[in-house]
Amino acid sequence: MRDFSIKGLNISGSNLIKIVASVCLVAGLNTNPASAATMSKSNSETVEKEDKILFTGKSLKQNELVLKVAKALPSVGTGKFVWPAQGGYISSKKGPRWGREHKGIDIAQPEGFDILAADHGVVKAAGADGTFGNRVIIDHGNGYETIYAHLKTIDVQVGDKVPQGTKIGVMGTTGRSTGIHLHFEISKNGTTKDPLSYVKQ
Ligand SMILES: [Zn+2]
Repeated sequence: MRDFSIKGLNISGSNLIKIVASVCLVAGLNTNPASAATMSKSNSETVEKEDKILFTGKSLKQNELVLKVAKALPSVGTGKFVWPAQGGYISSKKGPRWGREHKGIDIAQPEGFDILAADHGVVKAAGADGTFGNRVIIDHGNGYETIYAHLKTIDVQVGDKVPQGTKIGVMGTTGRSTGIHLHFEISKNGTTKDPLSYVKQ
């Protein structure tokens, strides 16, 4: 009785806005939770008669939220990056370290442990990767990629769209690591960049 379903209707693009608008209108006119409604799509196709919308005011709002999120997920980066952790300080910079190149920065001692997507993108890789431990790679669709390593847990899967600021995992010390921290890299067209040229705490 609390489900919202549109049978046979592809929820995407401009149709989505029309659907949400239609639902709002119906909600305003009819508060009976067992009511059924018939809607039209923007291209004038009529939704099948047996399609019904059953809702209460509360559940309707929840459904609207889901629909809007499904449409709005951006997957191409802005080129501007946010700090990928909840606070913390830079415990190691990019550059030579221990006889090899440290290709990113390390962020340690955070206020919280969520790891965040630094810009909009799509998850390119997510899983265990040798010295990186549990690591996520995000392709920002504009030549940039970011890497997040040593995570305790990973919250995303390959192919997920991750808007900037999305939680992608929890900070940890997996792989070649001496303490809980995030190893963070930015590359552009395959060349590693200094993340400190892009992010500020
Ligand atoms: Zn590192």
